[in-house]
Amino acid sequence: MTATPAPARPRRKRGEGQWALGYSEPLNKNEQSKKDDNPLNVRSRILGIYSQRGFDSIDPSDLRGRFRWMGLYTQRAPGFDGGKTAQLEEEELDDRYFMMRVRSDGAILDAAALRALGSVSVDFARGTADITDRCNIQYHWIEIESVPQIWERLEAAGLSTIEACGDSPRPFLGSPVAGIAKDEIIDGTPALEEIKRRVINNPEFSNLPRKFKTSVSGHPSHDSAPEINDVSFVGTVHPEHGPGFDLWVGGGLSTNPMLAQKLGVWIPLDEVADAWEGVCGIFRDYGYRRLRSRARLKFLVADWGVEKFREVLEGEYLGRTLVSNPSPASPTQQSDHVGVHEQKDGKYYIGAAPVVGRISGEVLLGLAGVVEKYGLRGVRLTAHQKLVVLGVEPSDTEAVVSDLRAVGLEARPSNWRRSTMACTGIEFCKLAIVETKARAAALITELEQRFPELDTPITVNVNGCPNACARTQSADIGLKGQLVMDDAGNQVEGFQVHLGGALGLQANFGRKLRAHKVTSAGLDDYVTVLVRNYLAERGEGESFAS
Ligand code: SF4
Repeated sequence: MTATPAPARPRRKRGEGQWALGYSEPLNKNEQSKKDDNPLNVRSRILGIYSQRGFDSIDPSDLRGRFRWMGLYTQRAPGFDGGKTAQLEEEELDDRYFMMRVRSDGAILDAAALRALGSVSVDFARGTADITDRCNIQYHWIEIESVPQIWERLEAAGLSTIEACGDSPRPFLGSPVAGIAKDEIIDGTPALEEIKRRVINNPEFSNLPRKFKTSVSGHPSHDSAPEINDVSFVGTVHPEHGPGFDLWVGGGLSTNPMLAQKLGVWIPLDEVADAWEGVCGIFRDYGYRRLRSRARLKFLVADWGVEKFREVLEGEYLGRTLVSNPSPASPTQQSDHVGVHEQKDGKYYIGAAPVVGRISGEVLLGLAGVVEKYGLRGVRLTAHQKLVVLGVEPSDTEAVVSDLRAVGLEARPSNWRRSTMACTGIEFCKLAIVETKARAAALITELEQRFPELDTPITVNVNGCPNACARTQSADIGLKGQLVMDDAGNQVEGFQVHLGGALGLQANFGRKLRAHKVTSAGLDDYVTVLVRNYLAERGEGESFAS
């Protein structure tokens, strides 16, 4: 007699690591590290142990994991070209120095804050400082022994590095002209302040599947990149309820770019923080944790759709029905705030451009001097690696423009300086394949000579790898760093080209043109041909992106 085979046990459907569905076991080393110890706890070890005993005392799981929650990454060790990026593990490229990010979160930096930022750069970071497109100040060459002194100096000026990196609520983007601009729909500052108060350094939100990016702006130009943040509150006017915010979720770039989707709800100013907690709570609890490549909110939104997302937000997180918004927000103007503009109080704000976000300790200290000299309100950073000085008396505008120029900031820049961004690149970033900042700066100089006058803006974003930190897909000319073949058949630094991307009025991802790869050395001529062709063939009113 043959034995009857035992009935097969039903196989548990393989989850994606969503906590809310019972998949609480860590499924990869990042999740295990966060479970082993809350990453926020690393601060006390940095202060009490590592800064006193030195680099070699740092536990590897802190060094390559939890340090990020304190805004610290090891920078790229010198001597490795882009070819090594793929061949070596990230940790093999570790230097003994750190990159440190300081978050600004849409706040106005007064003279004291600018002096603190500048003095940290001069005293501890070999003079380095970059404005990032998430409105951080980023330093390099930081030694672990200096971190307590740096934090003390920054914190005395109201600044912080906490959760500037890591699987956490990353630095928040606000409108650079919140509460200032004449044409603002609504000032999001109180909402942003409340989100900061509830969230930063709060263990409830410190273990997310991956990074979580926030944008809050009530300006009609959509000046804080709402299309590519995980959650965005976008100023709008409800026909019955008045000014408030449209809620968008699930935007992001990198290798699977997705535009944020409108949930179709209107959020009043004093409920923005609750809605933020709800959306971030969904990400924390339902977000995919099994694969790092799927662990962004955009994948959940794409799988669920906006109807289910809204249902879960209302039913499980807010416990109430949200007000539907019959007129979802769309931008009505394009503005990067560069130049001289009148404020609603009769004073002026002036937007100024460094070159590809690169400033220095000296520039920050010089800027503090300008703020003091003219009694300005302060400075905000922009999502385009620029800055805006606020509260200039009408009679002082030209003097401020001139003093800004003297410290290296141009309020009347060429198109190329104004509309080019670059990520950190191979100079300091361990993931980079190519050089970016210096390459982009040289491109700007060359294009300023070849096209000194341009009657329409053309944006160029230079990225050192597919991670798109300088937004490859949202520029007219988006450049993704990779190794390419030169005419002699050698592998050299170069770029895959994406064309026709934009944020704002024509929000759209650039098309990747497979045949369009260019060596870094050939970049100036390649862009020149593109621009010449566009200028020669464009129709009436046709922008580069259209
Ligand atoms: Fe580094 Fe790549 Fe991001 Fe550039 S895009 S900063 S190279 S990870």
